[in-house]
Amino acid sequence: MKFETLAIHAGQEADPNNGAVMTPVYLTSTYLQDGIGKPRQGYEYSRTLNPTRKALQDCLAELEGGNWGLAFASGMAATDTVLRMLKSGDHVVAGNDVYGGTFRLFDKVLRRFGLDFTFADTTDPENLAEALTPATKIVWLETPSNPLLSVTDIRAVAEALKQHPSKPLLAVDNTFATPYLQRPLELGADLVVHSMTKYLGGHSDVVGGAVIGKDKELGAQLAYLQNAIGGIQGPMDSFLVLRGIKTLPVRMDRHFENATRIVQFLEKQKSVERIFYPFHESHPQQKIAKAQMKNGGGMISFVMKAGKDAAIKVAEATKLFTLAESLGGVESLIEVPAAMTHLSTQGSTLEVAPGLIRLSVGIENMEDLIADLEQALKA
Ligand SMILES: *Cc1c(COP(=O)(O)O)cnc(C)c1O
Repeated sequence: MKFETLAIHAGQEADPNNGAVMTPVYLTSTYLQDGIGKPRQGYEYSRTLNPTRKALQDCLAELEGGNWGLAFASGMAATDTVLRMLKSGDHVVAGNDVYGGTFRLFDKVLRRFGLDFTFADTTDPENLAEALTPATKIVWLETPSNPLLSVTDIRAVAEALKQHPSKPLLAVDNTFATPYLQRPLELGADLVVHSMTKYLGGHSDVVGGAVIGKDKELGAQLAYLQNAIGGIQGPMDSFLVLRGIKTLPVRMDRHFENATRIVQFLEKQKSVERIFYPFHESHPQQKIAKAQMKNGGGMISFVMKAGKDAAIKVAEATKLFTLAESLGGVESLIEVPAAMTHLSTQGSTLEVAPGLIRLSVGIENMEDLIADLEQALKA
């Protein structure tokens, strides 16, 4: 079946007990056993598995073209669980403009446990190859990345890693694109990671994360870690993400339509120095973006010519675009990464331009959105 159909039905059947069409929120921690070691329907304890979470996990697996999916309490819990496959002395190569929280987890927390990280420009295959060592176990990509929306050729990286003697796993954070726009497993990645807090949930009302893959052994290892560490997604939150996913294709199409119009508007603004948008002709990897993504998505970054103060002024002057962190909801958001989401990268090689503004373009009326930006840029 096609994506739009899977988004609504995958992993979800009418409840066998009562015919409920929507997957119920199973608020239970434990399950009846018919005899010792004989759970009636395979469920024993909700950290290990819960029917609402299972429906979401199965849905995610189908949407990404994987064989298994795992849902976590947050994107960071999902990321942390993947990294727990490693041991002290192992090395990871990560993109040099990954999500600020990912950088913080890798650089500030996991280094303390003896893991080693190199942050490299993954958009350049040579740069990436140079960063690999015999100890490299995982290559961590974010494409499009946050907040600069740089694009990495997933297929090229996957092929290069297969040639490398240490055969590192390729993990792709697919939060910005979602499986509707981009399916990393089909391009050769081993793992897809999501913050479901963003487009998958889509309504800024839930925090969640996911890991999806094809290889069954890898799936078993990560399911073991999910249960052992316990950073699981609860049943209510699983339900909210399942509900959000049903409209993912229509939302993503509308995000793209609105973002395209806003990019056209920003191009004409003299106060704007540079625009970052994957499908824009000024984007250095526009060709790759068009080859591996169905559309350009709903995220736009741009730099104000006048720098940080101007960026802050604009972000504080919008009325419809809410000044807030996060992204991917139906409502439009605006932020200044250097002062907000990416504060923790200050002074590092990952530091972003102080005049950078990031927009998460919502699905409101596009004329209202443009009118709001117009008045804020004038201010
Ligand atoms: C938000 C985000 C994360 C972290 O996810 P949480 O759900 O906030 O823990 C990871 N990667 C990207 C690209 C994100 O935008």
